[in-house]
Amino acid sequence: MNIHEYQAKQLLSQYGVAVPAGEPCKTVDQAKAAAEKLFAAGHKLAVIKSQIHAGGRGKGTFKHGFQGGVKLAKSVADAVTYADNMLGKTLVTKQTGPDGRVVSTVLIAAAEDIKKEFYLAVLLDRANSLPLIMASTEGGVDIEEVAEKHPEKIIKEHIDPSMGFQPWQGRKIAAALGLKGDLAGQAAKMFAGVYKTWWECDASMVEINPLCICVGADGKEKLVAVDAKIGLDDNALYRHKNIQEMRDLAEEAPLEIEASKFNLNYIKLDGSIACLVNGAGLAMSTMDIIQHYGGNPANFLDVGGGASKEQVTAAFKIILSDPYVKGILVNIFGGIMDCNVIATGIVAAVKETGLKLPLVVRLEGNNVVAGKKTLAESGLTLITGDSMADAAQKVVKAVGQ
Ligand code: GDP
Ligand code: MG
Repeated sequence: MNIHEYQAKQLLSQYGVAVPAGEPCKTVDQAKAAAEKLFAAGHKLAVIKSQIHAGGRGKGTFKHGFQGGVKLAKSVADAVTYADNMLGKTLVTKQTGPDGRVVSTVLIAAAEDIKKEFYLAVLLDRANSLPLIMASTEGGVDIEEVAEKHPEKIIKEHIDPSMGFQPWQGRKIAAALGLKGDLAGQAAKMFAGVYKTWWECDASMVEINPLCICVGADGKEKLVAVDAKIGLDDNALYRHKNIQEMRDLAEEAPLEIEASKFNLNYIKLDGSIACLVNGAGLAMSTMDIIQHYGGNPANFLDVGGGASKEQVTAAFKIILSDPYVKGILVNIFGGIMDCNVIATGIVAAVKETGLKLPLVVRLEGNNVVAGKKTLAESGLTLITGDSMADAAQKVVKAVGQ
Protein backbone atom coordinates (compact mmCIF):
# COMPACT_ATOMS: atom_id res chain seq x y z
CA MET A 1 0.00 0.00 0.00
CA ASN A 2 1.14 3.51 -0.73
CA ILE A 3 0.31 6.63 1.22
CA HIS A 4 0.33 10.33 0.43
CA GLU A 5 3.28 12.66 0.99
CA TYR A 6 1.55 14.47 3.88
CA GLN A 7 0.87 11.13 5.60
CA ALA A 8 4.46 9.97 5.04
CA LYS A 9 5.64 13.22 6.62
CA GLN A 10 3.37 12.63 9.63
CA LEU A 11 4.98 9.21 10.17
CA LEU A 12 8.51 10.53 9.66
CA SER A 13 8.03 13.37 12.10
CA GLN A 14 6.90 10.84 14.74
CA TYR A 15 10.40 9.39 14.43
CA GLY A 16 12.09 12.75 14.81
CA VAL A 17 12.67 13.54 11.13
CA ALA A 18 12.36 17.29 10.42
CA VAL A 19 9.61 18.09 7.92
CA PRO A 20 8.19 21.51 6.92
CA ALA A 21 5.11 22.71 8.81
CA GLY A 22 2.01 22.12 6.70
CA GLU A 23 -1.61 21.03 6.47
CA PRO A 24 -3.55 18.82 4.05
CA CYS A 25 -6.55 20.64 2.54
CA LYS A 26 -9.50 19.30 0.60
CA THR A 27 -11.18 22.56 -0.36
CA VAL A 28 -10.00 25.96 -1.59
CA ASP A 29 -11.37 27.54 1.61
CA GLN A 30 -9.27 25.21 3.75
CA ALA A 31 -6.25 25.99 1.58
CA LYS A 32 -6.85 29.70 2.03
CA ALA A 33 -7.05 29.35 5.82
CA ALA A 34 -3.88 27.22 5.91
CA ALA A 35 -1.96 29.73 3.76
CA GLU A 36 -3.17 32.64 5.92
CA LYS A 37 -1.86 30.84 8.99
CA LEU A 38 1.58 30.29 7.41
CA PHE A 39 1.97 33.89 6.24
CA ALA A 40 0.71 35.21 9.59
CA ALA A 41 3.36 33.08 11.32
CA GLY A 42 6.00 35.00 9.39
CA HIS A 43 6.76 32.62 6.53
CA LYS A 44 7.58 34.49 3.34
CA LEU A 45 6.72 31.70 0.95
CA ALA A 46 4.27 28.79 0.91
CA VAL A 47 4.36 25.67 -1.23
CA ILE A 48 1.17 24.16 -2.64
CA LYS A 49 1.56 20.46 -3.38
CA SER A 50 -0.84 18.12 -5.18
CA GLN A 51 -1.28 14.91 -3.20
CA ILE A 52 -1.37 11.89 -5.49
CA HIS A 53 0.33 8.49 -5.22
CA ALA A 54 2.81 9.31 -7.97
CA GLY A 55 6.00 11.29 -8.24
CA GLY A 56 7.18 13.82 -10.80
CA ARG A 57 4.46 16.23 -9.70
CA GLY A 58 6.66 19.30 -9.90
CA LYS A 59 7.13 18.78 -13.63
CA GLY A 60 3.61 17.48 -14.25
CA THR A 61 0.83 19.20 -16.22
CA PHE A 62 -2.88 19.31 -15.46
CA LYS A 63 -5.31 18.24 -18.15
CA HIS A 64 -6.82 21.72 -18.22
CA GLY A 65 -3.38 23.11 -19.13
CA PHE A 66 -2.17 24.35 -15.75
CA GLN A 67 1.58 23.70 -15.37
CA GLY A 68 3.07 22.11 -12.27
CA GLY A 69 1.64 20.03 -9.43
CA VAL A 70 4.00 21.75 -6.94
CA LYS A 71 3.91 25.55 -6.82
CA LEU A 72 5.53 28.23 -4.69
CA ALA A 73 3.19 31.02 -3.56
CA LYS A 74 4.29 34.48 -2.42
CA SER A 75 0.88 35.47 -1.11
CA VAL A 76 -2.41 34.03 0.13
CA ALA A 77 -3.99 35.07 -3.18
CA ASP A 78 -1.39 33.06 -5.14
CA ALA A 79 -1.91 30.06 -2.87
CA VAL A 80 -5.67 30.23 -3.48
CA THR A 81 -5.18 30.43 -7.28
CA TYR A 82 -2.89 27.40 -7.23
CA ALA A 83 -5.13 25.33 -4.94
CA ASP A 84 -8.08 26.19 -7.18
CA ASN A 85 -6.15 24.97 -10.22
CA MET A 86 -5.24 21.69 -8.53
CA LEU A 87 -8.22 20.55 -6.46
CA GLY A 88 -10.61 18.35 -8.42
CA LYS A 89 -8.33 18.56 -11.48
CA THR A 90 -6.39 15.77 -13.20
CA LEU A 91 -2.60 15.85 -12.96
CA VAL A 92 -0.50 13.96 -15.50
CA THR A 93 3.12 13.17 -14.58
CA LYS A 94 5.81 10.82 -15.86
CA GLN A 95 4.62 8.29 -13.30
CA THR A 96 0.82 8.52 -13.64
CA GLY A 97 0.51 7.43 -17.26
CA PRO A 98 -1.59 9.44 -19.74
CA ASP A 99 -4.82 9.09 -17.71
CA GLY A 100 -3.33 11.08 -14.84
CA ARG A 101 -4.78 11.27 -11.32
CA VAL A 102 -7.44 13.49 -9.85
CA VAL A 103 -6.07 15.66 -7.06
CA SER A 104 -8.45 15.68 -4.11
CA THR A 105 -6.04 16.97 -1.47
CA VAL A 106 -3.33 19.62 -1.55
CA LEU A 107 -0.64 20.03 1.06
CA ILE A 108 -0.05 23.65 2.00
CA ALA A 109 3.35 23.91 3.65
CA ALA A 110 5.93 26.48 4.63
CA ALA A 111 8.29 26.74 1.68
CA GLU A 112 11.87 26.23 2.62
CA ASP A 113 14.79 28.31 1.46
CA ILE A 114 16.64 25.45 -0.23
CA LYS A 115 20.46 25.58 -0.54
CA LYS A 116 21.05 22.03 -1.76
CA GLU A 117 19.01 18.94 -2.60
CA PHE A 118 20.00 15.34 -1.76
CA TYR A 119 18.40 11.96 -2.35
CA LEU A 120 17.81 9.44 0.43
CA ALA A 121 15.99 6.11 0.47
CA VAL A 122 15.69 3.01 2.61
CA LEU A 123 14.58 -0.19 0.95
CA LEU A 124 15.10 -3.92 1.03
CA ASP A 125 17.96 -5.18 -1.09
CA ARG A 126 16.58 -8.51 -2.22
CA ALA A 127 19.83 -9.62 -3.83
CA ASN A 128 21.68 -9.34 -0.50
CA SER A 129 18.67 -9.95 1.79
CA LEU A 130 19.52 -6.83 3.76
CA PRO A 131 18.03 -3.39 4.38
CA LEU A 132 19.79 -0.82 2.24
CA ILE A 133 20.22 2.92 2.58
CA MET A 134 20.83 4.76 -0.66
CA ALA A 135 21.89 8.37 -0.76
CA SER A 136 23.08 10.77 -3.41
CA THR A 137 24.19 14.36 -3.81
CA GLU A 138 22.06 14.39 -6.97
CA GLY A 139 18.72 15.02 -5.28
CA GLY A 140 15.48 16.49 -6.56
CA VAL A 141 15.90 14.88 -9.95
CA ASP A 142 15.03 11.56 -11.48
CA ILE A 143 17.09 9.06 -9.47
CA GLU A 144 16.72 6.34 -12.12
CA GLU A 145 18.59 8.62 -14.50
CA VAL A 146 21.38 9.17 -11.96
CA ALA A 147 21.61 5.41 -11.38
CA GLU A 148 21.97 4.86 -15.12
CA LYS A 149 24.33 7.69 -16.07
CA HIS A 150 26.31 8.25 -12.87
CA PRO A 151 26.09 5.09 -10.75
CA GLU A 152 29.19 6.27 -8.82
CA LYS A 153 27.10 9.13 -7.42
CA ILE A 154 24.87 6.73 -5.49
CA ILE A 155 26.11 5.83 -2.03
CA LYS A 156 24.96 2.46 -0.69
CA GLU A 157 25.10 1.30 2.91
CA HIS A 158 23.68 -2.04 4.03
CA ILE A 159 22.26 -2.44 7.51
CA ASP A 160 22.60 -5.59 9.55
CA PRO A 161 19.04 -6.11 10.82
CA SER A 162 20.21 -7.90 13.96
CA MET A 163 22.35 -4.89 14.93
CA GLY A 164 20.10 -2.15 13.57
CA PHE A 165 21.30 1.15 12.21
CA GLN A 166 24.60 2.18 13.82
CA PRO A 167 25.60 5.80 14.52
CA TRP A 168 28.91 5.31 12.65
CA GLN A 169 26.93 4.39 9.55
CA GLY A 170 25.06 7.69 9.79
CA ARG A 171 28.36 9.58 10.03
CA LYS A 172 29.80 7.58 7.12
CA ILE A 173 26.88 8.45 4.81
CA ALA A 174 26.95 12.10 5.92
CA ALA A 175 30.68 12.29 5.12
CA ALA A 176 30.15 10.66 1.73
CA LEU A 177 27.56 13.35 0.97
CA GLY A 178 30.13 16.01 1.86
CA LEU A 179 28.30 17.20 4.99
CA LYS A 180 30.40 18.73 7.73
CA GLY A 181 30.14 20.04 11.28
CA ASP A 182 26.68 20.50 12.72
CA LEU A 183 25.00 19.41 9.45
CA ALA A 184 26.83 16.06 9.59
CA GLY A 185 25.49 15.50 13.10
CA GLN A 186 21.95 16.45 12.02
CA ALA A 187 22.23 14.14 9.03
CA ALA A 188 23.37 11.14 11.06
CA LYS A 189 20.41 11.65 13.40
CA MET A 190 18.02 12.07 10.49
CA PHE A 191 19.20 8.90 8.73
CA ALA A 192 18.64 6.99 11.97
CA GLY A 193 15.09 8.41 12.15
CA VAL A 194 14.33 7.55 8.53
CA TYR A 195 15.64 4.01 9.03
CA LYS A 196 13.56 3.63 12.19
CA THR A 197 10.45 4.77 10.29
CA TRP A 198 11.14 2.15 7.62
CA TRP A 199 11.74 -0.59 10.17
CA GLU A 200 8.96 0.10 12.66
CA CYS A 201 6.25 0.86 10.09
CA ASP A 202 7.14 -2.30 8.11
CA ALA A 203 7.68 -0.15 5.06
CA SER A 204 8.90 -1.59 1.80
CA MET A 205 10.39 1.75 0.87
CA VAL A 206 10.93 5.19 2.33
CA GLU A 207 12.16 7.77 -0.14
CA ILE A 208 13.05 11.38 0.57
CA ASN A 209 13.69 13.27 -2.62
CA PRO A 210 14.72 15.95 -2.03
CA LEU A 211 16.28 15.94 1.39
CA CYS A 212 17.45 19.54 1.65
CA ILE A 213 19.89 21.81 3.33
CA CYS A 214 17.68 24.81 4.10
CA VAL A 215 18.34 28.14 5.72
CA GLY A 216 16.10 28.73 8.72
CA ALA A 217 14.61 32.05 9.84
CA ASP A 218 17.55 32.35 12.28
CA GLY A 219 20.01 32.11 9.36
CA LYS A 220 21.23 28.67 10.45
CA GLU A 221 21.48 25.73 8.06
CA LYS A 222 19.25 22.75 8.80
CA LEU A 223 18.30 19.49 7.13
CA VAL A 224 14.66 19.05 6.13
CA ALA A 225 12.72 16.27 4.35
CA VAL A 226 11.02 18.41 1.67
CA ASP A 227 9.35 15.50 -0.15
CA ALA A 228 8.55 12.02 1.17
CA LYS A 229 7.19 8.81 -0.21
CA ILE A 230 6.42 5.65 1.76
CA GLY A 231 5.33 2.25 0.46
CA LEU A 232 4.14 -0.28 3.05
CA ASP A 233 4.33 -4.05 3.07
CA ASP A 234 0.69 -5.19 2.81
CA ASN A 235 1.46 -8.42 4.66
CA ALA A 236 2.36 -6.48 7.79
CA LEU A 237 -0.41 -3.88 7.63
CA TYR A 238 -2.50 -5.77 10.17
CA ARG A 239 0.04 -4.67 12.79
CA HIS A 240 -0.52 -0.96 12.06
CA LYS A 241 -4.06 0.27 12.66
CA ASN A 242 -2.98 3.91 12.31
CA ILE A 243 -1.42 3.26 8.90
CA GLN A 244 -4.40 1.21 7.67
CA GLU A 245 -6.49 4.34 8.20
CA MET A 246 -4.26 6.20 5.76
CA ARG A 247 -5.42 4.01 2.86
CA ASP A 248 -6.85 6.13 0.03
CA LEU A 249 -9.10 3.93 -2.07
CA ALA A 250 -9.46 6.65 -4.71
CA GLU A 251 -5.78 6.08 -5.56
CA GLU A 252 -6.21 2.35 -6.13
CA ALA A 253 -7.53 0.59 -9.22
CA PRO A 254 -11.25 -0.19 -8.60
CA LEU A 255 -10.88 -3.78 -9.82
CA GLU A 256 -8.01 -4.39 -7.43
CA ILE A 257 -10.15 -3.16 -4.52
CA GLU A 258 -12.98 -5.50 -5.58
CA ALA A 259 -10.48 -8.39 -5.80
CA SER A 260 -9.12 -7.70 -2.32
CA LYS A 261 -12.68 -8.10 -0.92
CA PHE A 262 -12.63 -11.72 -2.13
CA ASN A 263 -9.04 -12.36 -1.05
CA LEU A 264 -7.92 -12.60 -4.65
CA ASN A 265 -4.49 -11.40 -5.66
CA TYR A 266 -5.27 -9.37 -8.74
CA ILE A 267 -3.13 -6.88 -10.60
CA LYS A 268 -4.38 -5.31 -13.79
CA LEU A 269 -1.97 -5.23 -16.71
CA ASP A 270 -2.46 -3.82 -20.19
CA GLY A 271 -2.65 -6.93 -22.40
CA SER A 272 -5.69 -8.77 -23.78
CA ILE A 273 -5.44 -12.29 -22.33
CA ALA A 274 -6.87 -12.65 -18.86
CA CYS A 275 -5.38 -15.37 -16.64
CA LEU A 276 -7.02 -17.16 -13.75
CA VAL A 277 -4.44 -19.23 -11.93
CA ASN A 278 -3.84 -20.77 -8.50
CA GLY A 279 -0.56 -19.89 -6.84
CA ALA A 280 1.68 -16.90 -7.48
CA GLY A 281 4.49 -18.92 -9.06
CA LEU A 282 2.15 -20.59 -11.54
CA ALA A 283 0.55 -17.20 -12.25
CA MET A 284 3.95 -15.76 -13.11
CA SER A 285 4.90 -18.64 -15.37
CA THR A 286 1.49 -18.47 -17.06
CA MET A 287 2.11 -14.82 -17.87
CA ASP A 288 5.56 -15.72 -19.18
CA ILE A 289 4.29 -18.46 -21.42
CA ILE A 290 1.52 -16.27 -22.85
CA GLN A 291 4.17 -13.72 -23.72
CA HIS A 292 6.44 -16.44 -25.10
CA TYR A 293 3.77 -17.43 -27.63
CA GLY A 294 3.21 -13.83 -28.69
CA GLY A 295 0.30 -12.81 -26.45
CA ASN A 296 -0.01 -10.20 -23.72
CA PRO A 297 -1.45 -10.91 -20.27
CA ALA A 298 -4.30 -8.64 -19.16
CA ASN A 299 -3.73 -9.35 -15.50
CA PHE A 300 -2.04 -11.29 -12.79
CA LEU A 301 -4.69 -13.24 -10.88
CA ASP A 302 -3.94 -15.75 -8.18
CA VAL A 303 -7.05 -17.35 -6.66
CA GLY A 304 -4.92 -18.97 -3.95
CA GLY A 305 -4.42 -22.53 -2.84
CA GLY A 306 -7.99 -23.33 -1.79
CA ALA A 307 -10.34 -21.09 -3.73
CA SER A 308 -14.11 -21.47 -3.33
CA LYS A 309 -16.78 -21.40 -6.03
CA GLU A 310 -17.68 -17.83 -4.93
CA GLN A 311 -14.09 -16.69 -5.37
CA VAL A 312 -13.88 -18.18 -8.86
CA THR A 313 -17.14 -16.43 -9.83
CA ALA A 314 -15.87 -13.14 -8.39
CA ALA A 315 -12.59 -13.62 -10.27
CA PHE A 316 -14.47 -14.08 -13.57
CA LYS A 317 -16.55 -10.98 -12.97
CA ILE A 318 -13.43 -8.94 -12.25
CA ILE A 319 -11.71 -10.24 -15.38
CA LEU A 320 -14.76 -9.44 -17.49
CA SER A 321 -15.02 -5.87 -16.21
CA ASP A 322 -11.77 -5.12 -18.00
CA PRO A 323 -12.83 -3.94 -21.49
CA TYR A 324 -9.44 -4.88 -22.99
CA VAL A 325 -9.85 -8.59 -22.28
CA LYS A 326 -10.36 -10.62 -25.47
CA GLY A 327 -9.80 -14.15 -24.15
CA ILE A 328 -9.34 -16.04 -20.88
CA LEU A 329 -6.87 -18.70 -19.87
CA VAL A 330 -7.64 -20.75 -16.78
CA ASN A 331 -4.56 -22.62 -15.64
CA ILE A 332 -5.04 -24.68 -12.50
CA PHE A 333 -2.72 -27.14 -10.88
CA GLY A 334 -4.68 -28.90 -8.16
CA GLY A 335 -2.35 -29.60 -5.28
CA ILE A 336 -4.57 -28.60 -2.38
CA MET A 337 -7.13 -27.22 -4.82
CA ASP A 338 -9.82 -29.62 -5.94
CA CYS A 339 -10.07 -29.33 -9.75
CA ASN A 340 -13.77 -30.06 -9.58
CA VAL A 341 -14.38 -27.01 -7.36
CA ILE A 342 -12.70 -24.88 -9.99
CA ALA A 343 -14.65 -26.58 -12.78
CA THR A 344 -17.95 -26.03 -10.95
CA GLY A 345 -16.96 -22.42 -10.35
CA ILE A 346 -16.11 -21.90 -14.00
CA VAL A 347 -19.43 -23.34 -15.17
CA ALA A 348 -21.40 -21.20 -12.68
CA ALA A 349 -19.42 -18.08 -13.57
CA VAL A 350 -19.75 -18.55 -17.33
CA LYS A 351 -23.50 -19.03 -17.01
CA GLU A 352 -23.93 -16.12 -14.63
CA THR A 353 -21.87 -13.70 -16.68
CA GLY A 354 -23.06 -14.89 -20.09
CA LEU A 355 -19.45 -15.20 -21.24
CA LYS A 356 -18.96 -14.73 -24.99
CA LEU A 357 -15.16 -14.55 -25.07
CA PRO A 358 -12.97 -17.56 -25.90
CA LEU A 359 -12.11 -19.52 -22.78
CA VAL A 360 -9.23 -21.97 -22.63
CA VAL A 361 -8.99 -24.25 -19.62
CA ARG A 362 -6.09 -26.36 -18.48
CA LEU A 363 -6.71 -28.44 -15.37
CA GLU A 364 -4.25 -30.81 -13.78
CA GLY A 365 -3.92 -32.60 -10.45
CA ASN A 366 -6.24 -33.33 -7.56
CA ASN A 367 -9.64 -34.69 -8.73
CA VAL A 368 -8.95 -33.69 -12.32
CA VAL A 369 -11.11 -36.43 -13.84
CA ALA A 370 -14.22 -35.17 -12.06
CA GLY A 371 -13.30 -31.61 -13.01
CA LYS A 372 -12.97 -32.41 -16.68
CA LYS A 373 -16.24 -34.33 -16.56
CA THR A 374 -18.03 -31.32 -15.05
CA LEU A 375 -16.71 -29.12 -17.87
CA ALA A 376 -17.56 -31.66 -20.59
CA GLU A 377 -21.12 -32.13 -19.34
CA SER A 378 -21.78 -28.42 -18.87
CA GLY A 379 -22.64 -27.83 -22.51
CA LEU A 380 -20.37 -24.77 -22.58
CA THR A 381 -18.16 -24.04 -25.54
CA LEU A 382 -14.71 -23.98 -24.13
CA ILE A 383 -11.32 -24.98 -25.39
CA THR A 384 -9.29 -27.41 -23.34
CA GLY A 385 -5.53 -27.39 -23.19
CA ASP A 386 -3.51 -30.52 -22.45
CA SER A 387 -0.42 -28.78 -21.19
CA MET A 388 0.51 -25.24 -20.26
CA ALA A 389 2.21 -24.71 -23.61
CA ASP A 390 -0.77 -26.12 -25.49
CA ALA A 391 -3.25 -23.96 -23.55
CA ALA A 392 -1.16 -20.82 -24.01
CA GLN A 393 -0.87 -21.35 -27.76
CA LYS A 394 -4.59 -21.96 -28.03
CA VAL A 395 -5.57 -18.80 -26.17
CA VAL A 396 -3.09 -16.65 -28.12
CA LYS A 397 -4.57 -18.05 -31.36
CA ALA A 398 -8.15 -17.52 -30.11
CA VAL A 399 -7.62 -13.81 -29.47
CA GLY A 400 -5.90 -13.51 -32.85
CA GLN A 401 -2.44 -12.35 -31.77
P1 GDP B 1 7.79 15.66 -6.97
O1 GDP B 1 8.03 16.47 -8.21
O2 GDP B 1 6.51 14.90 -7.04
O3 GDP B 1 8.96 14.81 -6.62
O4 GDP B 1 7.59 16.72 -5.78
P2 GDP B 1 8.65 17.44 -4.80
O5 GDP B 1 8.02 17.63 -3.49
O6 GDP B 1 9.96 16.72 -4.81
O7 GDP B 1 8.81 18.88 -5.43
C1 GDP B 1 9.47 19.10 -6.66
C2 GDP B 1 10.46 20.22 -6.52
O8 GDP B 1 9.82 21.41 -6.08
C3 GDP B 1 11.55 19.96 -5.49
O9 GDP B 1 12.64 19.20 -5.99
C4 GDP B 1 11.97 21.37 -5.10
O10 GDP B 1 12.94 21.84 -6.01
C5 GDP B 1 10.68 22.15 -5.27
N1 GDP B 1 10.11 22.37 -3.92
C6 GDP B 1 9.29 21.55 -3.25
N2 GDP B 1 9.05 22.02 -2.02
C7 GDP B 1 9.76 23.17 -1.91
C8 GDP B 1 9.96 24.14 -0.88
O11 GDP B 1 9.47 24.02 0.23
N3 GDP B 1 10.77 25.21 -1.17
C9 GDP B 1 11.37 25.37 -2.38
N4 GDP B 1 12.12 26.44 -2.58
N5 GDP B 1 11.20 24.47 -3.37
C10 GDP B 1 10.42 23.40 -3.14
MG1 MG C 1 10.24 14.60 -5.10
